[in-house]
Amino acid sequence: MIYHKVELESLNKTVNIPLYEDELYCQCPKCGIEQEVDDEMMKSIYFEGGDLGSTSFICPDCTKKHFYKE
Ligand SMILES: [Zn+2]
Repeated sequence: MIYHKVELESLNKTVNIPLYEDELYCQCPKCGIEQEVDDEMMKSIYFEGGDLGSTSFICPDCTKKHFYKE
């Protein structure tokens, strides 16, 4: 199991939260919309040697605006 380890300082307790691929979210760096990270996004992180903390994905709307700019 891969999990998040979260320290709750106020309770002086450490909690392990299971990490599931279908529960990962990221924010679009352009408009800030929250989007779910899917398998394709995970693969591209691995193939491009990125890491989960520093990778961001532009949402489909902003991608469209970027490619179909007048
Ligand atoms: Zn966006």
